Amino acid sequence: MKRSAGHAGTGFLIMISNKGFKRFKTRVVSVGDVPMGGDYPVRVQSMTSTPTLDTRATVQQAVRMIEAGCEYVRIAVPGMKEVENLAEIKKTLRQKGFKTPLIADVHFRPEIAEVAATLVEKVRINPGNYVDRNSKGSIKKSKENRPDGETERIGKRLRPLLEICRQHGTAIRIGVNHGSLSERILEEYGDTPTGMVESALEFARICETFSFYDLVFSMKASNVRVMIAANRLLIKEMTRAGMNYPLHLGVTEAGAGEDSRIKSAIGIGSLLADGIGDTIRVSLTEDPEFEIPVAYNILQAAGSRITKTEYIACPSCSRTLFNIQDSLKRIENGTSHLTWLKIAVMGCIVNGPGEMADADYGYVGSGKGKIALYKGKKIIRNNIDEKEAVDALIGLIRESGDWKDKAG
Ligand code: SF4
Repeated sequence: MKRSAGHAGTGFLIMISNKGFKRFKTRVVSVGDVPMGGDYPVRVQSMTSTPTLDTRATVQQAVRMIEAGCEYVRIAVPGMKEVENLAEIKKTLRQKGFKTPLIADVHFRPEIAEVAATLVEKVRINPGNYVDRNSKGSIKKSKENRPDGETERIGKRLRPLLEICRQHGTAIRIGVNHGSLSERILEEYGDTPTGMVESALEFARICETFSFYDLVFSMKASNVRVMIAANRLLIKEMTRAGMNYPLHLGVTEAGAGEDSRIKSAIGIGSLLADGIGDTIRVSLTEDPEFEIPVAYNILQAAGSRITKTEYIACPSCSRTLFNIQDSLKRIENGTSHLTWLKIAVMGCIVNGPGEMADADYGYVGSGKGKIALYKGKKIIRNNIDEKEAVDALIGLIRESGDWKDKAG
């Protein structure tokens, strides 16, 4: 059983540097054999959409997700029958050789979370409905002056789950949704990022009183601005409180197609660019395996996790005197497996070299139908016919020792 260290005090809130960029340093939380947080890569996860009682369909869908690159598979467990079937789903996946950690998604019923925690590697609970979805009994008080009874009431409900998780090495996500805050939180803080953050923190404070620290937070909303604001506020409040739990990022109900991808890219990508986020889920109204490439594209664009060759290509303009679209396609075809490289494809030698940023190689128009090749900022060959220039670029990468043949 793996476990992250206990509370580390307030001295750990440092930012780590990644090529000059910073990431909010979170504690490592073990989720089966795939840890998250700390220096681990930002993890990609998704959720099955098949009926959880349909073992065959759920396993098949989970396999498609895993083969697409999904690192945690979340499964909804609305009732006791479904939670019992988690054992069957897990067994079948393991028999097929898939060890990907499973996460049970639980709403409303602590007894379901408690059984799920014995079966899977992580349990997601929603503080908006785990204890008091419809409770109206709150007294409007600040969190510092909140009646002890309320904390005790939540603690009483949470404690059995924490003990089971401790015993089984199961992590917990305190997953707050903007659309399902408890009546008590709504009365006290309104439908706001502050309410979302407080909803998560009061659960975390209670977990800490029981010395349970294997927690992950999420602040999800369909409104991208609310989602971003809630996560930024959570980081601020965690820092103030001396907490460093990993964050799961996602925009809920993002829809389908291009609009949904743009929403997720803005919501998740803005936070990743701030150095926030340890695992992401892109929610699409499509089969879940389609979420995975979008997730990796967002991570790549934010510079958080590089999984493919990075191309820096200009849009071209009247200064471009060769077929840049065709060249880019041919370069991508030949070099997309060189995930460690940045390759610039620029329309002209006037502005191209200056705009190539930190590219490792440059393919730059230098005249009518002519190309210049760069290694870093240094020009290596000039006036190559555009028909031969892609092969010449590949030759330059080979000669420079940066080439590897495609696997398989
Ligand atoms: S790099 Fe040159 S060709 Fe490309 S957009 Fe800029 S000026 Fe135009």
